[in-house]
Amino acid sequence: MTEKQYQETIFSKIIRKEIPANIVYQDELVTAFRDISPQAAVHILIIPNKFIPTVNHVTEEDEKTLGRLFTVAAKIAKEEGIAEDGYRLIMNCNAHGGQEVFHIHMHLVGGEPLGKMLSK
Ligand code: 5GP
Repeated sequence: MTEKQYQETIFSKIIRKEIPANIVYQDELVTAFRDISPQAAVHILIIPNKFIPTVNHVTEEDEKTLGRLFTVAAKIAKEEGIAEDGYRLIMNCNAHGGQEVFHIHMHLVGGEPLGKMLSK
């Protein structure tokens, strides 16, 4: 079976500021911006600047970048005023995970009670 080919997504264009997005944080490793279709009062996507299509493509080389996703999530949660009440960090992978954009991203959602983790 040939491996599926992945191409850069709209998220690469957001990183390069070729298309508009509400960017709340950017550094040399990661970019964070508000989700276009928020699922909660606060819904921000934190993504590596490097193109990594799915979590299945993560390597040891990416550990520093992936760690940065968490430190930036904590910083943004504080800035958004949701750190104490709490929030949820989600990464979806492939079909069963419900991944729609194939450039890995951490969803930071909160600002209201989120209920149970899974609907079933
Ligand atoms: P996934 O289902 O892949 O985990 O999540 C993809 C997320 O990206 C969705 O929450 C969707 O609303 C968001 N999204 C898709 N296209 C855009 C876009 O062009 N701009 C922004 N800001 N968010 C997007």
